[in-house]
Amino acid sequence: MMLLTRKMIEIRSLLQTIGQSETLTLPSIVVVGSQSSGKSSVLEAIVGHEFLPKGSNMVTRRPIELTLVNTPKAQAEYGEFPALGLGKITDFSQIQKTLSDLNLAVPEKDCVSDDPIQLRIYSPNVPDLSLIDLPGYIQVEAFDQPTELKMKIQELCDKYIQPPNVILAISAADVDLANSTALRASRRVDPRGERTIGVVTKMDLVDPVRGAQILADRNYPLRLGYVGVVCKIPKDTKSLFSRGSANIMNQLTKNETAYFNAHPDTFGDVTTGTPNLRKKLMHVLEATMSASLATTSEAIQHELAEATYEFKVQYNERSLSAESYLAESLDAFKHSFKVADGSVQADPISSLPKADSENPLWHLKLDASTSTLTKLGIGRLATTITAQALQESVEGLLHTSTFASHPFAVQAITTASEGILRDLSFDTSDELEICVKPYKYRVEVDSGEWARGRANIGNVLGRELKDCETANKAVEEQLGGRRKAKDVLSFIDRVRSGELVIEGSDGVGGAGGFSAALLAKGREALFLRDRADILRLRLAAIKSRQCSNPANKYHCPEIFLDAVADKLTSTADLFLDAELLSKFYYQFPRVLERQFRSLDEGTVERFAREDPKIRRHLDVVRRKELLEHVLKEMEGLRVLEAREKRGISRG
Ligand code: GDP
Repeated sequence: MMLLTRKMIEIRSLLQTIGQSETLTLPSIVVVGSQSSGKSSVLEAIVGHEFLPKGSNMVTRRPIELTLVNTPKAQAEYGEFPALGLGKITDFSQIQKTLSDLNLAVPEKDCVSDDPIQLRIYSPNVPDLSLIDLPGYIQVEAFDQPTELKMKIQELCDKYIQPPNVILAISAADVDLANSTALRASRRVDPRGERTIGVVTKMDLVDPVRGAQILADRNYPLRLGYVGVVCKIPKDTKSLFSRGSANIMNQLTKNETAYFNAHPDTFGDVTTGTPNLRKKLMHVLEATMSASLATTSEAIQHELAEATYEFKVQYNERSLSAESYLAESLDAFKHSFKVADGSVQADPISSLPKADSENPLWHLKLDASTSTLTKLGIGRLATTITAQALQESVEGLLHTSTFASHPFAVQAITTASEGILRDLSFDTSDELEICVKPYKYRVEVDSGEWARGRANIGNVLGRELKDCETANKAVEEQLGGRRKAKDVLSFIDRVRSGELVIEGSDGVGGAGGFSAALLAKGREALFLRDRADILRLRLAAIKSRQCSNPANKYHCPEIFLDAVADKLTSTADLFLDAELLSKFYYQFPRVLERQFRSLDEGTVERFAREDPKIRRHLDVVRRKELLEHVLKEMEGLRVLEAREKRGISRG
């Protein structure tokens, strides 16, 4: 039953997806041989396609983990580089080019790399096999190859030819076996020749009798034996068949069979031919897989125990997937947003453009009547401030949510809320402007509104007066006390009224025995004193009987302006609440939901993995699940194996 190899190859692919192939080595056939021994030709004959990089200068710099998958029902033959995601490649010259590029990407100074290239070939013509092609051993260092290259290649090969791997040692017939680097290397790690298959290439280059002697070698006995092959790929295949898609297996076998059949007596007792080699490889690998079933199961059990322990101790057995993580994060964020709903803290006054007290235009504005206020553009202003406050609150929440460690999500959510607010603001500000339009022509203030305005403006002026007095006291102290201040102030008063004429009065040196700095402070005190006088005056006016009547609005413009401002803000408030806030609160979570739910699997995965903690958690969960799955498969295989063995012994 050739089922085992296939199953084990599937298991290996699974283990590769969680990067466990290092510790859990399933047996492979490792191909070693010196440069030009015909190693590539043998591999290509097995596959039936030219797909390995060719060239005089060190074309294999990385191990190639070649997995052959037999697809009996399919017509198509194709290759896949699982790590590259290039999809199915049916043109084998394209595979060759990709392999070349991958090898040439290894920097010259590193010589070789032990990072394997994974390549799978699917075809009805190949057996299920797992082969590893390694850089060829070099005999003599060429002038353009670094001196340590020889050592590096040897180290790399030594790493791969360890048990439980099977060694396919390639030697050319026209080189004495005693000089075969491949056999020498194999002997170091497999001295009894138990897991080495000897392949003698270029049989056509030696006398048939000599060739048969080599294959029957008694000096280097190998339990798995030697196979002699002729794998020279005819030069004209390239022109005969278009591009790299044609299968050359038949052509090769025909040549090879012709050669060995021409000397039936000589090669009668030895194993020859690529088809026989292929069969041998299948049987040996199957047997090796079977022998390693128990130890591999144990190794997987061990890994699983570790993963389970980590899952329990580190993650409290909390299962996690990229999708569930995204869904939880989104729910938590939406919840936090809901909680914050209605508590958007905006400070409109501090966000407004500041009044410049020195600007006569501003004075004019303040002193002007209702129209200035109503034509202020309250629609745009109020909408902008509210939208800004909303956006800030979204960003604030975002940075305290799980999304904070996901630049992708922060960007997506910020953009989403900006987009919604932009669209809503557009209409809202226009409509609000229309809403307050009537006030631009005529504002009616009823007695209730007037009374509220009167109370409010009374408070405002009262507070302002208190501030003014406090400031005045501070300046007086800086002037050296109340008496000194009085002197300075009366001096300035007299100069102002023209009673005193002083040349260069405002000069640097000061005047009237006062320093310039003192006079400047004095002027400040004077301003505060005058301002306090006016405030007291206005307060008195507001409190007067006359100002209790809305009809007298020209006597008390402050009350009227306050009432108008109040009308405008309460209109804006109502309108923004209905048009901007509630629409935003409705739309925002839904837009997020839609956007996040429609993400493809890859994006969700990338998103979850942005957070290193989540990435580790996901890895542990995945490793555990996969190992459990693999272990179950392995147990199944062992049961099958045992049954098979019983059947054989009974039969
Ligand atoms: P590698 O460097 O070990 O991969 O060797 P290649 O497979 O590239 O072969 C080296 C050279 O030997 C090439 O020119 C092949 O055409 C030639 N070669 C390979 N196998 C045979 C064979 O069986 N007979 C003959 N005559 N030449 C072969």
